[in-house]
Amino acid sequence: MKKSKVAVVRCTGYDDELVYGAIKRGMELMGGISCYVKPGEKIVLKPNVLWGSDPEKCVTTHPAVFKAVGRLLQEAGAKLTYGDSAGFGKSEAHVQRAGLKRAADELGIALADFDSGQVAVHRSGLLNKRFIIANGILAAEGVVSMPKLKTHGLTRLTGAIKNQFGCIPGTIKGQFHLKMPDPYDFATMLVDLNSLIRPRLFIMDGIIAMEGNGPRNGNPRKLNVLLLSSDPVALDSIACKIIDLNPEFVPTSKPGEKAGLGTYHYDEIETVGDDVDSFITRDFDVIRRPPVPATSGRIRTFLKNRVTPRPVIDKAKCTRCGVCSKVCPVEPKAIEWNPDDKSKFPEHKYDLCIRCYCCQELCPEGAISIKNTLLGSIISR
Ligand code: SF4
Ligand code: SF4
Repeated sequence: MKKSKVAVVRCTGYDDELVYGAIKRGMELMGGISCYVKPGEKIVLKPNVLWGSDPEKCVTTHPAVFKAVGRLLQEAGAKLTYGDSAGFGKSEAHVQRAGLKRAADELGIALADFDSGQVAVHRSGLLNKRFIIANGILAAEGVVSMPKLKTHGLTRLTGAIKNQFGCIPGTIKGQFHLKMPDPYDFATMLVDLNSLIRPRLFIMDGIIAMEGNGPRNGNPRKLNVLLLSSDPVALDSIACKIIDLNPEFVPTSKPGEKAGLGTYHYDEIETVGDDVDSFITRDFDVIRRPPVPATSGRIRTFLKNRVTPRPVIDKAKCTRCGVCSKVCPVEPKAIEWNPDDKSKFPEHKYDLCIRCYCCQELCPEGAISIKNTLLGSIISR
C-alpha cells in the first residue's frame, strides 16, 4: 500500500533566507514544486490569520514562511493571490496587523476577496452538503494551505484541516458552531470543507508554535520544524506526534480518513527529511484527552454543563470591549453584556453555552481561558 508522505524539515528561526532554503528543501523532498503547480495557474495562498496579530505572538503563519512559499511558487510560474477570513472584521486589517500584507506587497501578491462568498454544493460531503465559500478561493484554480501549529480548545490542534475554516467568509463561520454543537459533527464539517476545497499542498509553520490557551492567546513554543504534505490528515498526525498528542484526540482524524483525505495511522505515513523523533516535545502544553460529545435532553445537558470545560473570564485582563458577546453564535447570547453599561464585565450563562469557545478564540486581550469544572476534573483523573 502506498504510504502518505510528510516532509519534516528543521528550521531554527524566521530569517527570510533560512526559511526559504528550508521550504525549498521540503518541496524537493515532496517531489518538487512542479508536482503541485503548473506555470500560469492561479493559486491562492491560505495562511492562518485568525486575528491579525504581531507575528511574535505566534497566532498567525509567520510572514517569512508566507514569503518563502510565495517566492517558490512564483519561481514555478504560478499567479498568486492570498487571504484568510478572520472570525470578526474585514480581512485586510487582519493581514496588515499580521505582517502578511507587507510580505505580499513585496512579492506583488494581491489580497483576494475573503469577506464575501458564494454557495458551493458538496454532494459527497459526509455531513455538510452546502457551504458558502470565499470568492477568493472560488476564483483560484488551486489552494496552497499554510497552517500554524497551535493548540485549540475544541479540536485540540489547529492544524492542516482546521486551517480551511477561514475559507468561509466572516461571521458565517459562527453559525456552524450553532448548527453543530457536537465537536465530532463540527470536525466532520471541517473534513467536508477540505474535501470540497482540496488544497494541493499543506505547509505547516511549526518553527515557533503556540501551546496552552490557543489558538489566539497561548504561549509561543519553539519547535524548529516545518511540515509539508499533500495529505492533511497525515500532516496533522505527525504534528500530534511532535507535541505528544494522540491523533485520535483530534476529532478530524477519523472522519478525515473516512472521507479519503488521508491517514492518521503512523504505520501508513512515511516521513522524509529530518528525524521526526528529534522534534518530539513531551511537555508541550496541550489538552491530552478527547473532546466531550454534545448531549441532548435536560438531564444530559445539566450534566454536560457540569462536566465539559467552560470558558472563564479573567477580569484583571478584560477591557469590557464586548467582542466575546458579539461573536457568541447563540441566541439569546450565552455571554451577557450591555454595550450601554461598560462599568460591568460580561458574564457567561453556562446553561446557554454550547462550548464552541469562539469567545476564548477571539477575545483580543486573552482574557478568556478554558477551565475544567470540578466534576470534570474528578472524572478525567
Ligand atoms: S472579548 Fe475579552 S476583553 Fe473583550 S469583553 Fe470579552 S472577555 Fe473582556
Ligand atoms: S459563551 Fe463562548 S463558548 Fe459559549 S457559546 Fe458563546 S462563544 Fe461559544
